[in-house]
Amino acid sequence: MAERGVEALLVSVGRDLPYLAGYEAMPLERVTMLVVLPDGEATLVVPALEAARVTPMPGAFTIVPWGETDDPIAVIAGLLEDRRAVAVGDQMWARFLVEMLARVPDLRPVRAVDVVGELRILKDEAEVGALAAAASAVDGIATDLQAGRIPLLGRTEAEVSADLSRRILEAGHERVNFAIVASGENAASPHHHPGPRVIGRGDLVLCDFGGTMNGYCSDITRCVSIGTPDPEVAEAWEVLRAAQQASVESATVGTACQEVDRAARRVITEAGYGEFFIHRTGHGIGMEEHEDPYMVEGNDLPLSAGHAFSVEPGIYVPGRWGMRLEDIVVATDSGPRRLNTADHGLAVI
Ligand code: ZN
Ligand code: ZN
Ligand code: ZN
Repeated sequence: MAERGVEALLVSVGRDLPYLAGYEAMPLERVTMLVVLPDGEATLVVPALEAARVTPMPGAFTIVPWGETDDPIAVIAGLLEDRRAVAVGDQMWARFLVEMLARVPDLRPVRAVDVVGELRILKDEAEVGALAAAASAVDGIATDLQAGRIPLLGRTEAEVSADLSRRILEAGHERVNFAIVASGENAASPHHHPGPRVIGRGDLVLCDFGGTMNGYCSDITRCVSIGTPDPEVAEAWEVLRAAQQASVESATVGTACQEVDRAARRVITEAGYGEFFIHRTGHGIGMEEHEDPYMVEGNDLPLSAGHAFSVEPGIYVPGRWGMRLEDIVVATDSGPRRLNTADHGLAVI
């Protein structure tokens, strides 16, 4: 904070709060705010009716509950005293910041990621362990999908998505973050919302799902063909698989994030599908499903041991089909470590 000229850190809804204080704010209109000062003094301002949810950490932060008729913004402004350069969490409600600005008009907010980001981007052993446990939980579901143990033919995308969601919880996650099921031409939209389309023979079905387990996220994509795939689809899958493999192998410590993107893009472009790979190759993952570092052209951040991220190239042919192959990878001093090990082939059921 001192290096960045930040005089106070304000953390509310979002993942910075559980990262720092082990407490997740309820995403509601009553404000929860951890106020951290550069001398290490930290105060958690929390609605009185939610104070019992907080696990006290004496010596780490003081809990200040506010009652229904109190003015929590005044409490927070009081803690700031004359400090004006504040770092604010990305997911704090706009309402709270607007109210703070009304109270303290010369407040100078910057993004808390400038302060907390450097801590969160490097995963320690326990965090990698949590990511690995979450990854292996969804690997089991992916393996069931590929083996035909999760029925697809004749069901709607929405039904299969609900089934995946239930299994994500059964596998030990406390929360489902997404369960994309996109079939046939719908899979050409990378973030398709699962709907009423009934999965039929000859469809290629893309499933991208994940949740949060012990605070850390899982995220995997596998595709299944209902019946023998069209030769064009089978050939494209081999291109995608080679691209994903090349990208994972490129992710060594010291390599720039954009090189991880380029490694995948090169293979797909050389095979003639470049125009159909319409998104970055990956995103960081940790307590949030998408966080730094991003594997994208323009990001010259060199990978460090402890960076955890997805490698998920895709090929999307509008009106026809779409495919993506995604694993979570951790950069380590002995090379890239894949956390997902479910089969990388195009499953045919
Ligand atoms: Zn996505
Ligand atoms: Zn995904
Ligand atoms: Zn992802």
